[in-house]
Amino acid sequence: MMDQTKPRVGAAKPSHHPGEEVLLDYAIGASSPAEALVIDLHLEFCAQCRRTVDDLLAVGGALLDVMEPAFVSPQMFNKTLQAIGQNAPTSPTKPSPIPRVPTFAVGWPAPLRDRVTANRLKQWRWLPAGFRALRIPMSDGDARIWVMKAPGGRGPFKHTHSREEWTVVLQGGFTDETGKYEMGDFVSAGRDEAHHTVAEPGEGCICVLLVRAEPIYTTLPGKLLAPFVRI
Ligand SMILES: [Zn+2]
Repeated sequence: MMDQTKPRVGAAKPSHHPGEEVLLDYAIGASSPAEALVIDLHLEFCAQCRRTVDDLLAVGGALLDVMEPAFVSPQMFNKTLQAIGQNAPTSPTKPSPIPRVPTFAVGWPAPLRDRVTANRLKQWRWLPAGFRALRIPMSDGDARIWVMKAPGGRGPFKHTHSREEWTVVLQGGFTDETGKYEMGDFVSAGRDEAHHTVAEPGEGCICVLLVRAEPIYTTLPGKLLAPFVRI
């Protein structure tokens, strides 16, 4: 039976990508755990960025080959080793003896699905107006990862935030003042940018958000909803 929740990772052709600096941080292992998870999810969908990360790692490896040892700080050397280790091909994943993936997460990309399973998250948190949310616990200080599910034609209202917010679209899509975003797209909303996101009609949208500070709602419905959402 066709799983309707599956985001069809291979079918995605993202047109919005992280900047090269963000990918470089990721490649050398300098991203925070929450940042690395969001980038991992985009890479699941995006062959172009996977190639860029591979190229950055290759350049890093070549630089290590030609540099005098004295020029490589222990910190950078460790970071590079760590990055190479993180990106090395891994042996096939052992099948879990007892699959405990909740139904809603079965088709999600492995980096996210594994965290849902590891944290024993069993159900969405229901919010007003048909929204659902799932907080993914992370070790980062003030960064929070939320999976948000928005019904078609609805969005989390107009909001702004004091720090950068990252989003990867898992399923469906949304639009805001800056354009239309579809499965696999990476979106970075900058500091103090007010935006009004609306999920695609019909299917709606499932997104993964990295939020570094609570959004500041600027409309009355947004202010009313904020205590429930608290993303
Ligand atoms: Zn990409």
